[in-house]
Amino acid sequence: MTDHNNWPQQLSAEELAEWRRRFAEANRNNVFCHCRQCHEEWVASGKTACHHCGSNHVEAIACWQFPDG
Ligand SMILES: [Zn+2]
Repeated sequence: MTDHNNWPQQLSAEELAEWRRRFAEANRNNVFCHCRQCHEEWVASGKTACHHCGSNHVEAIACWQFPDG
């Protein structure tokens, strides 16, 4: 029987839950879209067709991927 546990000392369950909540929230509301066709830029809840030219050539970048300040 071992009495030390090998759980990695990275995130507690609470921190992990918080992180996942924030991740889901950011992902839902902050997807930065860039139209490759007309270079329109907008923020949406997900990848959408360009509202300006109707193109599906849209690059979608989740805002959480941007570095923090
Ligand atoms: Zn466009």
